[in-house]
Amino acid sequence: MDGSKPVKGRFAPSPTGRMHAGNIFSALVAWLMAKSRGGSIVLRIEDLDKERSKPQFIDAVQRDFETLGLFWDEGPYFQHDRDEAYRAAFDEMSDRGLVYPCFCTRADLHAASAPHRGEKTVYPGTCRHLDEAEKRQRAEKRKPAYRLIVPDEEIAFHDEIQGAYSQNLERDCGDFLIKRSDGAFAYQLAVVVDDAEQGITSVVRGIDLLCSTPQQMYLQSLVGAAHPTYAHVPLIVAQHGRRLSKRDHDAALDALLARFETPEAIIGHIAGMTGIAPDCSPATPEELLAVFDAEQLSKTLSRSEEIPWR
Ligand code: GLU
Repeated sequence: MDGSKPVKGRFAPSPTGRMHAGNIFSALVAWLMAKSRGGSIVLRIEDLDKERSKPQFIDAVQRDFETLGLFWDEGPYFQHDRDEAYRAAFDEMSDRGLVYPCFCTRADLHAASAPHRGEKTVYPGTCRHLDEAEKRQRAEKRKPAYRLIVPDEEIAFHDEIQGAYSQNLERDCGDFLIKRSDGAFAYQLAVVVDDAEQGITSVVRGIDLLCSTPQQMYLQSLVGAAHPTYAHVPLIVAQHGRRLSKRDHDAALDALLARFETPEAIIGHIAGMTGIAPDCSPATPEELLAVFDAEQLSKTLSRSEEIPWR
């Protein structure tokens, strides 16, 4: 990253539900990281997935951020407005011969390489070498998705919380999807095009996206974008290590307000239990800035991938 640029972080919620403790935590760290460095925050609504994104949550999620005192400085931007920009990036990579149609079904992919728990599926390159006649023939029966050819190359970076991380794209990931068979551009492509155009220099998000980062860094190098800094925070998990999700109503914002009564009490509780603050006293994000120490927090958070919700 170019150190002379002002820091610009982001909130990038997918409007598939209300906010819950886990995404409040990562938004709070994103906000504190940016603000403690004199930076700003962009709000981007990631409504790329038309089936899962619900209009009522687009508004609700914004109100949730405001209720919590997590104010943004720019946006909201919407992914549904950005098809042209995604298409331009896609076409450019396609013109360079880096993209091919993939006709594999979900069942094909599963049969080719069933991933072990916690591992990602490595695409074995099944459709990479189809000739033109085969492509035409298959396209008559099935709309293809599109994959990006990845090099046999190690992509390494230093995560501000997790430390050193690297992946060999060919071995650990395989050619990955940049456009889905339903015509939607894939998350990896959209997020890179958006981060680049919106000038994002600092990405803070859940550790579940750590393994996507090398793919995104590779895409950044193809579209000529600078790499932002990355910080992946642990996930807040429900009892028995189950992931907290927007369906876990006990940790969703309404339930949190019922339990803690004020937004400051929610923020303070999450700050205390995650090590952002020394205790769980009620606080606004603004007040937490006074005690926030990015380096110290990184040390605390790097010790575990999950924090149990309590
Ligand atoms: N929209 C994603 C989510 O809500 C976050 C993507 C990102 O931060 O890159 O989980």
